[in-house]
Amino acid sequence: VRVELTETQRQLRDTIRAFAAERLRPTAAATDRDGRVPRELVAELGRLGVMGCVVPERYGGAGFDHVAYALAIEELAAACASTAAIVTAHASLATWPILAFGSDAQRARYLPKLASGEWLGCFASSVEGGLVARRDRDDWVLDGRARFVANASEAHVAVAVAAVDPDGVSAFVVETASPGWRVESVAERTGLRGAAPGDVALEAVRVPRANRLGDEAGGAAIAGRTLDAARIATAATAVGIARACLEDSLVYARQRRAFGQPLAEFQGLQWRLADMAAAVEAGRLLTLRAASLFDRGLPYSGEASMAKLYAAESAMALATQAVQMHGGYGYTREFAVERYFRDATVIASAAGTPEALRLAVADHLLGETARA
Ligand SMILES: Cc1cc2nc3c(=O)[nH]c(=O)nc-3n(C[C@H](O)[C@H](O)[C@H](O)COP(=O)(O)OP(=O)(O)OC[C@H]3O[C@@H](n4cnc5c(N)ncnc54)[C@H](O)[C@@H]3O)c2cc1C
Repeated sequence: VRVELTETQRQLRDTIRAFAAERLRPTAAATDRDGRVPRELVAELGRLGVMGCVVPERYGGAGFDHVAYALAIEELAAACASTAAIVTAHASLATWPILAFGSDAQRARYLPKLASGEWLGCFASSVEGGLVARRDRDDWVLDGRARFVANASEAHVAVAVAAVDPDGVSAFVVETASPGWRVESVAERTGLRGAAPGDVALEAVRVPRANRLGDEAGGAAIAGRTLDAARIATAATAVGIARACLEDSLVYARQRRAFGQPLAEFQGLQWRLADMAAAVEAGRLLTLRAASLFDRGLPYSGEASMAKLYAAESAMALATQAVQMHGGYGYTREFAVERYFRDATVIASAAGTPEALRLAVADHLLGETARA
């Protein structure tokens, strides 16, 4: 697979790189410390077209492809991984399933507001039977809890996946202003704190019948395909974190002198930096390959799982190395590497834990045998 960037993709990447340097890098530590979604930055990202990156122009989006989207997410993450996580939850987990599986009426009502960033989206899944839906006359009524929902406290719209009797699963578009939708206060999070993953409790939330997404029995497939697609952006987030680890280590290795010379002159550290650079490139290529397959309408699920698995594990390894290379300073908040370390650990579990991704890749390799 050849991944050669078009002029449009390069332009978007460079625009977001400039925005990230000017607006995100200086505020990333505060976003992390405050642990809340920075609404003013989200509004700016809406104006830049990032919130509706892959939404067609007829719905008010920017109409970019997934390669461009992945490049934009990497740029955001290299400056502020929380912001990349906010955009991913909004664009991949909430907006994309409405675009891909929504009715004309659902698309017309939700996509323009989501694409502009006026409304923020989130995704609440009930993997362990946390959300339950039952029919009541013309409505559905949703009850239960969903945990670790990114953007929960600020979201206007949620794609919620709920169990339906007898053993089906349905997906719904839920407006969070509906009576009975409540975001619970949560314990302090380790990383990606700006995306403020919160717990949501639903108590008899009424959802009009017209807001069911796809077929009544289609919820599991919608959730699966949404998570598959989101793995591309999550992998790009991990690549951005890994890149930040490399870039900050390069700066530090040049400036810090030990035993009479800059760290950068120790060959052992040069080897480490070379390995870090190779891992960043490999993660990016896997991610862009999955995005490119997606854009051409080809199967991409196994490749997206591999990209997310490799990029997330690389981010964790590079974050450990970056902290070590900063010596004692690596453990202080004076340098950003301790934040990269916390963010890398958390990105590993979002949109598929390493174990879940290995099982998904094995499934692609072995098919029925892996499922036996
Ligand atoms: C930053 C972040 C953002 C998130 N955002 C959202 C969101 O927006 N919306 C949402 O609905 N959810 C969200 N989640 C939740 C996320 O999807 C779950 O945390 C994830 O699916 C893991 O589920 P769990 O926490 O219940 O872990 P568990 O399922 O309890 O797993 C615990 C451990 O056991 C391992 N394990 C489980 N089963 C197997 C197996 N068969 N073989 C081997 N190992 C196994 C797992 O890999 C993991 O390491 C988010 C999570 C994080 C960390």
